[in-house]
Amino acid sequence: MSRIELNNLAHQYAPGGDYALQPMQHVWEDGGAYALLGPSGCGKTTLLNIISGLVQPSEGKVMFGDRDVTNLSPERRNIGQVFQFPVIYDTMTVFDNLAFPLRNRSMDEHYINQRVTHIATMLGLEDVLKRRANNLTADAKQKISLGRGLVREDVAAVLFDEPLTVIDPHLKWQLRRKLREVHEQLNLTLVYVTHDQTEALTFADKVVVMLAGQVLQVGTPQALFERPEHTFVGYFIGSPGMNFMACSVEGSEAVVGDERIAVDPAMAEAARLAGGNLQLGIRPELIRPAEGDETGHLIKVDKVEDLGDYMLVTGHLGEHEVHVRLDESEKIDSDGLRVVFPVDNALLYADDKLVG
Ligand code: ATP
Repeated sequence: MSRIELNNLAHQYAPGGDYALQPMQHVWEDGGAYALLGPSGCGKTTLLNIISGLVQPSEGKVMFGDRDVTNLSPERRNIGQVFQFPVIYDTMTVFDNLAFPLRNRSMDEHYINQRVTHIATMLGLEDVLKRRANNLTADAKQKISLGRGLVREDVAAVLFDEPLTVIDPHLKWQLRRKLREVHEQLNLTLVYVTHDQTEALTFADKVVVMLAGQVLQVGTPQALFERPEHTFVGYFIGSPGMNFMACSVEGSEAVVGDERIAVDPAMAEAARLAGGNLQLGIRPELIRPAEGDETGHLIKVDKVEDLGDYMLVTGHLGEHEVHVRLDESEKIDSDGLRVVFPVDNALLYADDKLVG
């Protein structure tokens, strides 16, 4: 397995045209599972195709470990790949499909037998190894495709392009967990494109959040939840996303309309220095109901939805729409909901970037 280094990498599909990828500099660790996450058109596939060698970057280099692979074809990069739709040989057995990448490299049959059985068992294909692939369900076919991508131990990385798109929705969660287990057991460097945050957050050690050709943040699911570095990351990750309210800063308080909300003094100072458009950001699940004689801030409640695991309150603080996630709705009265924005959970953003 290899570390992947993107060295001043950028891409324009046409000279002088728009940048599909803005210049970037990243090192992704050997053995890490990285999910490229972002809305349609943000550049995920372009970046994956540059790493696989299907697209040549217009600027910069791709390194696998110390090896500069920028000018190598996909075949010479030594990677496993899994595409959106199954790529398998219908007339071959499942075993032969899984063995194909190993036989192609003239591996010893004893090793092939062991390795194929190991991968098939991990993916739950051990009972169908002797069946022809064309008789299987779409889900099983995509598992074969995953297995073929994962079977070689000598690859630098395995790249996945939205591989669960064709999987039946109720089986997706199983396969997501399965991939997580496979990653833990095989210690592979994985790069996985998806526009589904649940998929990215379950599967990846690190999520690479992209928007308009830029990488906005590379972080653990926890870091993206607790400290989104950009308002888009806060908004895109979460269910619902982070609340943002335009504010000014006075002393160690964020002033939102008529409300004064205490924030971390160092963050308030950094926001004052940064200037620009300031916003207060706070996650719906990190706002809590006021208790006892706490005054808190009054949210006028527009709607309360029971979403099974939690109650979702949609309301207004002054002119700003605010979401709050509660365990139960009993704190809501005819005036609305009194809440506290805990200091540690209230973050300040200047021109969409986290300050401090
Ligand atoms: P999706 O989730 O819809 O696949 P994406 O995040 O993978 O989107 P890309 O497909 O990488 O995004 O596209 C990034 C930008 O590059 C878009 O503006 C797209 O229109 C443009 N683009 C992609 N492929 C080409 C191409 N072959 N020629 C010209 N422009 C392209």
